[in-house]
Amino acid sequence: MAIVVLRELRKDSSGNSGPDDPASQVEAVHAAPADPDTPGDVGDRTFCGKPTLDMERVNYQPAEPGASWSPPSMKRWECSDCADALRSL
Ligand SMILES: [Zn+2]
Repeated sequence: MAIVVLRELRKDSSGNSGPDDPASQVEAVHAAPADPDTPGDVGDRTFCGKPTLDMERVNYQPAEPGASWSPPSMKRWECSDCADALRSL
């Protein structure tokens, strides 16, 4: 099954100090099933049940079946619920 990798950004970007580093605003990295009706599009919900609407798409596809679904550089933000769901597919 095709999956789409999405990143959830932190909502509270209210006047914090520090440089505007996009990586520091990542809340979590989720996976969602690709929309079966629209190839290349994403379904309504992630595997952990969150709406995909507010999330940003990450341009990443696992290299092979069984490979990690999240980009190595974003491993630390990997959503454990999505990881569990993908493992049991
Ligand atoms: Zn998730």
